[in-house]
Amino acid sequence: MQKISLTGLTPLQINETLGLKQAFRGKQIFKWISSHAKSFSEMTNLSKELRDELEEKAVIRSSTVNQVLKDPDGTIKLQIRLSDGLFIETVLLTDKADRKTACVSCQAGCAMKCAFCQTGTLGLARNLTAGEIVEEFMYLEEEAGTLDNIVFMGMGEPMMNLEAIRGAIAWLSSTDGRNLSTRRITLSTCGVIKGIYDLADNGPNIRLAVSLTTADEELRERLMPVQKGNPLGELRKAINYYAEKSGKRVTLEAALLHGENTSKESADRMINFARGIDVNINLIPWNPIETLPFSEPDASECKAFVSQLENAGLNVTLRTRRGRTIKGACGQLGKTSQEN
Ligand code: SF4
Repeated sequence: MQKISLTGLTPLQINETLGLKQAFRGKQIFKWISSHAKSFSEMTNLSKELRDELEEKAVIRSSTVNQVLKDPDGTIKLQIRLSDGLFIETVLLTDKADRKTACVSCQAGCAMKCAFCQTGTLGLARNLTAGEIVEEFMYLEEEAGTLDNIVFMGMGEPMMNLEAIRGAIAWLSSTDGRNLSTRRITLSTCGVIKGIYDLADNGPNIRLAVSLTTADEELRERLMPVQKGNPLGELRKAINYYAEKSGKRVTLEAALLHGENTSKESADRMINFARGIDVNINLIPWNPIETLPFSEPDASECKAFVSQLENAGLNVTLRTRRGRTIKGACGQLGKTSQEN
C-alpha cells in the first residue's frame, strides 16, 4: 500500500485522509511538518499509538534530495527525485544584499518550448502536486535558514499548473504554519493570457512577472511558440488588467540573446509595449546552453539596450547572472530523469 504524503495537506485534509477522530490532531501534525519535522518520532505531543499509526500509513515528504550542487557565487541547486522516479531541479539564489530567493519548479519538464531554454527541450513529463511544490520550498529553506522570497520560475509554466500552485501558496501562507506573506511570492509566466486573467480575478494576489523576451511579433513567435495563441496586443491588455486589479507593478522579463533581440529597433518595440502600463523591466544576459543555437550578448550590447530603455523613462534592471557553474541559472534547468 502506498503511503500518504502529508506535506502540502491542510489540517483538515490530514484529519480526513488519515481518518483522525480528534480534529486538533490534524493541526498538531500540520504544525510539526511546517516546522521541518523529519520524523514522526519528533512529534512528541502526539500519543505513541498515533505516531505508530502515522509511521505505518504516511510519510512526511514524498520526494528526496538526490544531489546538492553549489556555485561559488552562493547559488545552490537541488536535484530532487519524485516518488515516481522523475527528477526536478530547484534553486536557491542569494543576492549581494544576502536576500535569499527560492526559485521553485511547478512541472517536471515543460511543454512551452521556448527556444532559448533548456527545460523547453525536454517536453512535459507531468505537473507537480501542491505537496511536491511545498517540499521544494522546505528543502530550500533548510539550505537557506530563512527564505526572503519565493518565485515560481523554475522548470515548467506556472499557468499550466495554477491549481497546484494555489494549493502550495495556501499552505505556505497559512498563519498556523510558514505564514509566508503573499507579497513575497512571484509567479513568472511565458505569457499565458488566460492564466493572467484567472490569477487577477481569482487570486491569490501575488506578484506577476511575464517573460516578454521581445516585443517583435515575428521574432517572439520564433523564440516563444506561446505567442501564436497569445498575441502581444492581447498580452499587453492582460498585463495592464493584472496591474490594475492587483495594485502591483508587473515585471517584464527578457533574456538578452546576442544579435537576436538586442537591436535598437528591438529596444524601440519594447519601449512602445511598456509605455503606459505599470511595469518594471528585468533583463538578463542569456546563460549559455551548448545545445542551443544562441550566444551570449556582450557587455556593450547589453549596456546600449539598457540605456535606450532608461532614456525612454522606463524602470530597468540588468540582472547579474548567477549559478552558471552548476547550470542553476535562468533557463538552464534540465533534469527530469537519471539520464539527462
Ligand atoms: S522559459 Fe519557462 S515556459 Fe519557456 S520553456 Fe523554459 S520553463 Fe518552459
